Amino acid sequence: TAAARVRGLTKTYGKGDALVRALDDVTLDLAAGEFTAIMGPSGSGKSTLMHCCAALDTATSGEVFIGDRELGNLKDKELTRLRRDEIGFVFQSFNLVPTLTAQENILLPQSIARRKPEPAWFDTIVDTVGIRDRLGHRPNQLSGGQQQRVAVARALVSRPTIVFADEPTGNLDSQSGAEVLELLRRSADEHGQTIVMVTHDPVAASYTDRVVFLADGRIVDELRDPDRDGVL
Ligand code: ADP
Ligand code: ADP
Repeated sequence: TAAARVRGLTKTYGKGDALVRALDDVTLDLAAGEFTAIMGPSGSGKSTLMHCCAALDTATSGEVFIGDRELGNLKDKELTRLRRDEIGFVFQSFNLVPTLTAQENILLPQSIARRKPEPAWFDTIVDTVGIRDRLGHRPNQLSGGQQQRVAVARALVSRPTIVFADEPTGNLDSQSGAEVLELLRRSADEHGQTIVMVTHDPVAASYTDRVVFLADGRIVDELRDPDRDGVL
């Protein structure tokens, strides 16, 4: 069963001579519980694809289904609820709230949804990403790598059906990166979450079930059960 389906997705920016075709007729199925890596050169459309799938941006044409709902058919209220209850997003720029502590940032999706945190799962995530001793710090008191871990923890804590992560290990050393990748792997294996990750790192891609390669806004290749040599 597909957690998400993308059909003929095209996204353009600007017009006339300045028109940029960021995505050009992309069709893709994301199976439930599958961990997918999106790779490709800078400017190939990776972030745009993630934003359109996560209902953070709208398609110029084509369709995105999350479960059986087509995003273009949803009212703003339904989109808000979908983003809040079913989708997790790790932004490349972290998007942490500067006035809140790390702990408050991590629990923000749940407080917005007025849901009770699950203490055991919160502890597992905090310990896996290794930020327990930083929970009381605000983002400007954290390193880039620590902010990245907080952003990953925030995306996973409410157990969304589908998690989009834009280079979630880009600012981490290889040891912390490996821990974050293990956590994403476990989220798929043990909780059946669907994970989509943009990465430039073949080692990161080797944790996934499948690598989709983008170039100039199109899918140009796909690889199942990658190992790092296959991705390189
Ligand atoms: P990436 O590292 O994925 O290429 P960028 O730094 O290109 O990310 O983009 C970061 C943000 O800036 C994204 O939200 C993207 O939509 C936006 N962006 C990228 N290119 C442009 C552009 N030419 N004009 C305006 N916004 C852009
Ligand atoms: P990637 O994530 O693979 O680096 P992006 O999705 O960020 O690629 O960008 C794909 C193309 O769309 C690039 O040419 C980029 O400059 C352009 N682009 C992205 N966001 C914007 C935007 N908000 N306005 C104008 N152009 C954009």
